[in-house]
Amino acid sequence: MEPLDWLKRRTVCGLLRSLHPLKRVVGDGISSWPDSRSLIDFSSNDYLALSHHPLVIESGLKYQKKYGTGAGAARLMSGDCDYHHELEQAIAKYKGKAAALLFGNGYMANVGVIPALVGRHDVIFSDRLNHASIVDGCLLSGAKIWRFRHNDMAHLQELLQEKRGNGRALIIVESLYSMDGDRAPLGEIVRLKQQYDCVLLVDEAHATGLFGATCSGLVEEAGVTDEVELVMGTFGKGLGSYGAYVAAGQAWVDYLINRARSFIYSTALPPAVIGASLGALKVVQAEPHLASDLRRKTAFLESCFAKEGIVLGSGSQIVPLMIGKSDYAVRMATALRQQGFYVTAVRPPTVPENTARLRFSVTLHQSDEEILGLARAVSALFHD
Ligand SMILES: *Cc1c(COP(=O)(O)O)cnc(C)c1O
Repeated sequence: MEPLDWLKRRTVCGLLRSLHPLKRVVGDGISSWPDSRSLIDFSSNDYLALSHHPLVIESGLKYQKKYGTGAGAARLMSGDCDYHHELEQAIAKYKGKAAALLFGNGYMANVGVIPALVGRHDVIFSDRLNHASIVDGCLLSGAKIWRFRHNDMAHLQELLQEKRGNGRALIIVESLYSMDGDRAPLGEIVRLKQQYDCVLLVDEAHATGLFGATCSGLVEEAGVTDEVELVMGTFGKGLGSYGAYVAAGQAWVDYLINRARSFIYSTALPPAVIGASLGALKVVQAEPHLASDLRRKTAFLESCFAKEGIVLGSGSQIVPLMIGKSDYAVRMATALRQQGFYVTAVRPPTVPENTARLRFSVTLHQSDEEILGLARAVSALFHD
């Protein structure tokens, strides 16, 4: 098919993806670019606003000044630097694991780790709502893939019972689902994983920095750190930086160093990014009120919508408003943008058919007045 025809068809169904450039200035909020209309961002994953935190910025600059702009090579060539180990030790300790390994980003972590763990003779049990990077990692691995209904433990058990086989079996879940904002029942998953002798990989992309006694994530909050073999997450969301990690026992990490192709064949993360991530880890641990501020703000958003007769609430900072039809969701997002609220319409294939939604994310960049304004604007659109 010609690209123009394809693009036209996507436009008609409300499925065309396009870029909307923003100007994002520290201390000054965001605005559209180049026309400079001021916007409030309800779409970002910079939940704790750490990407603009002075100590995080300072730490990034410090590392860049001292170590330069690039690591110069992959870790297994000459790119393995002291600062990578400094961050790996810090994140391992934070996650309560013996060791950790850095990846370029979360996408690369998942497409590298999963094929390193399982292959043609093995099986994967993957939640149906798992992120695209997990789906791609599973496909790359060549393992047999069984997708269980979202958070449906009876279905997972049924599949384990019938399809476990004798090879290695890997269960993959997100601890906090990126487009629904709900949590995996980690306690039960751990029980099943033990019963059926599986390895468990938990993706904490949206939970890192936000949950648990030391804010390390939902694995910590559920008290299952020792039972989950591999915990991955990114530095690019709640931690306001970039890059990703897998935290695990030393043997798992040594194994990944030898087998994860996206680790082996890619240039090591640059010093500024490592410095920023180290700064962010210090800030979240020194300022646990950030995570509780976010919870308070999320409760406030839910109460503002409730006053407008709109019941929302996922139990986290990711708050979807289900719309259904993609074109309607796009029209709502466009109307909100015109009123100064940057909201994305999340559509298939990112989410299942007929579940297009507005995904509001609560961040510490937003003021209570702005959150109230969003609830009123959404309500007015519904009553139009
Ligand atoms: C965002 C995300 C990733 C990818 O992380 P990046 O660092 O952005 O590449 C992986 N898994 C989940 C669940 C995510 O939401």
